Amino acid sequence: MQKLVNEKKVGWEEIDEERKKDIFKFAEEYMFFLNQGKTEREVVKQTREILEKNQFVEIDSMDALKPGDRVYYCNREKSIYIAVIGEEKLEKGLNIVGAHIDSPRLDLKPNPLYEDTGFAYLKTHYYGGIKKYQWTTIPLSIHGVIVKTNGEKITVNVGESEDDPIFTITDLLPHLAQEQMEKKLKDGISGEDLNLLVGSIPSDEKESKERVKYHILQILNEKYGIVEADLLSSELEIVPSFKARSLGFDKSMIAGYGQDDRVCAYTSLRGILNVKKPRRTAICILSDKEEIGSMGNTGMESNVFDIFIAEILNKTGENRPNLLEKVFCNSKMLSADVDAGLDPIYSSVSEKNNAAYLGRGIGINKYTGVRGKAGDSDANAEYVGEIRKLLESSKILYQISELGRVDNGGGGTIAYILANKGVDVIDCGVPVLSMHAPYEVTSKFDIFEAYRTYEAFLK
Ligand code: MN
Ligand code: MN
Repeated sequence: MQKLVNEKKVGWEEIDEERKKDIFKFAEEYMFFLNQGKTEREVVKQTREILEKNQFVEIDSMDALKPGDRVYYCNREKSIYIAVIGEEKLEKGLNIVGAHIDSPRLDLKPNPLYEDTGFAYLKTHYYGGIKKYQWTTIPLSIHGVIVKTNGEKITVNVGESEDDPIFTITDLLPHLAQEQMEKKLKDGISGEDLNLLVGSIPSDEKESKERVKYHILQILNEKYGIVEADLLSSELEIVPSFKARSLGFDKSMIAGYGQDDRVCAYTSLRGILNVKKPRRTAICILSDKEEIGSMGNTGMESNVFDIFIAEILNKTGENRPNLLEKVFCNSKMLSADVDAGLDPIYSSVSEKNNAAYLGRGIGINKYTGVRGKAGDSDANAEYVGEIRKLLESSKILYQISELGRVDNGGGGTIAYILANKGVDVIDCGVPVLSMHAPYEVTSKFDIFEAYRTYEAFLK
């Protein structure tokens, strides 16, 4: 008999011991990935290593491409596009899964180092949508690159290994915080007060006016061979130094930094590794700059991804004028980005019939806009039907939801960018609690369903 009511199932109740083992094993591998990749550059580096181990090669190293070939293009060490060439001509369209690998964090300002009353600090400018108070009084690490004028590039990673020091941003003791506590939460900590504490021993260089700052410069010079001016051409990112961990007595969840959107990045990467010789060419995008609007030459708004596809068309020998536009019009995409999970403590911001729940499978957003679906690409019903068919035939648990109540907040993804090129796109990712916080929460069950979804879609 047909089931008339759409009953929402709890994933853990639908699986056997075997599947549970697979889910927990996958979660361990994912946590390793999170701990090794706390910035977009580190994720790209790690992804390249994984790709090379799985017979993917740089597209520039290939003169011609045929079905089954596995290639990638690394865009300035910050985003990466991956393809497995399909049996059909590209003209018939691509199957694309697109995630992003940048996460909210604090970036150092170009002139970051200063001294005040015996302490040395680094000034920051936050990246993406953060609640500033969450970034004080937690252990932080510094990751990134410093580029000298001679072209030498120095990689920095301090605060991850047990022998490393960590850094922190201080906050006022409650005893003296009366005035601060009266402020609105958003004003409690100001952007200009997010200053990283980095030292307090004065240098024995008696000539210097700021001897604590001078001492830090001496340490940096010894360790990295840099002078203060070299920080002008650096990209140094401040991220939480704690590790991703299993969460709960039952270990059913993961707490970790940067799960938006590395949870979808990792699961889509793992998905495309399993694709051998698909009918339609399979593409995986790991993009940068999503958290600040996808601008710039490593963001999804740039043309670099189009050039990657044009290059494939050249190398499969089918290119001709205006073919690229047609390829996009025939393509389908899952915009792999996290979904807001319903948090029972803050359930008033969600509408419970149309919210995504942790542990109930992959979350699908037909649209992500608010207040009249503003600024959103809103997937067509035909395409939603097609995706439902794929998920149901693959026995993947899914939920179709909205980001929050109609007139509440909302958020964007890269979906509209590809949709504007003519691609059929739907948002499809893992529900998260405490999104954009230094420690975000996901369900291991949903992570595995995301992996199964992206794999099924690309195959
Ligand atoms: Mn995201
Ligand atoms: Mn985000």
